[in-house]
Amino acid sequence: MSRWQMLKIILRVKPSVLLPGWMVRSTGLMVIVPVGAAGLLVVGPLRWMLMGLMGLAALALLWNAGRAGYRWRNPVLIPAEHPELAALVSEAAGLAGVAVVREMRLSGVAVMSARKGRVILGMPLLIGLSRDDLRTLLTMEFVYRRSGWLDACLTHAWLTTTDEQAAHAVQRLRRGHWEAAGKIVGGDRLGVALRRRWQVEAAFLWCMARFVYQGTYPADLFKLFRWKVEHDRLLDRVEPPPPSPAARGLARELGWPDGPITSTPGPTVFFRLAEKVEDRLCRAAAHWAQDEDLKGAPPSHAFRVDDGPVDSSGIAALVTQAATELIGAEATPQDVVDLVAAGRGGELDWRYGHMSCPHPTPGVCALVPLLEQSLRKRGYTSPHPYKLRELVGPAGDTIDLHELAAKIENGLPYEL
Ligand SMILES: [Zn+2]
Repeated sequence: MSRWQMLKIILRVKPSVLLPGWMVRSTGLMVIVPVGAAGLLVVGPLRWMLMGLMGLAALALLWNAGRAGYRWRNPVLIPAEHPELAALVSEAAGLAGVAVVREMRLSGVAVMSARKGRVILGMPLLIGLSRDDLRTLLTMEFVYRRSGWLDACLTHAWLTTTDEQAAHAVQRLRRGHWEAAGKIVGGDRLGVALRRRWQVEAAFLWCMARFVYQGTYPADLFKLFRWKVEHDRLLDRVEPPPPSPAARGLARELGWPDGPITSTPGPTVFFRLAEKVEDRLCRAAAHWAQDEDLKGAPPSHAFRVDDGPVDSSGIAALVTQAATELIGAEATPQDVVDLVAAGRGGELDWRYGHMSCPHPTPGVCALVPLLEQSLRKRGYTSPHPYKLRELVGPAGDTIDLHELAAKIENGLPYEL
């Protein structure tokens, strides 16, 4: 595929990936500088004011370039401080025939790449993937390391696309890499590791949807995710979304197995981070969750999920709003209960209702935030800050919200 064809697809689907984030954020400012310069030539008397304005715009540009830039969002890992992780990365590089790893960086979102020997590893993947899966997937990224800039822009962003033309292009571009990596680590092995990666990504996206709110971020996001993976079976409970056309097409072409993952993952890699670095990564992840193009300012106000009950009223309001749209009249939370009991939970069209989540049915998914809100008002609290579905009442009775919601869906009469 020619560079021109790649560029055409990118320009059609998402041109913003061609520019660094700070430039996208500064589009308005970048107009001020040349317009100001042109103004200087035309209006003499206002020269000083214009120059001042341009100076301010230039300062703001610099501020935008620095703020939450690449280095801020992707702190460097010193190999000597993380020996187990560094050893695993070199092992993967060795398998792919790469002699030198030039740099290791962390990211708050579920990314992984090894372009030109520079490794970026996302915290969610480090927490959710076993050492074996991580090594397998990193080997594939090292095999892919020599890709050009346009190629990388296209394939990393659109391995997950549903746009058919982009998916087809990505499939053609990456087939050789997948095949080469499969020869090194085993195609079946790679197929399983990839599916586990999608599972971890889906579980982490759900965590962000549940715990990240506009303008603020949970500073214990990764502690929470680790706890839910290790102690709450989150990965088993979240159904990964069906793979994108590109990924499914590639796996099929190469004859890698499909369907549920039956083997259990091995142990994860051990590494520890300074609190300051982890906080920065949580903030960067929340920034991305609220604003995928990173155009706005990163959230500045932090809270901790383990400090107290998380307010689920925002999610509850979304569900009630969906009920209002469905019945065509102002709906109450009780209307949602009645809709779900009537088997119409799947018809509720709300923001998080379509994503992979740990709830067995759309009806349960919609009821959980409403039940939680109503029970908390009646004095129920959650004994574990990260297991919000388990509530204990003032009289000492325990309620599992998922079980209660499922019973309501199956006909148990319930008044909120
Ligand atoms: Zn759900």
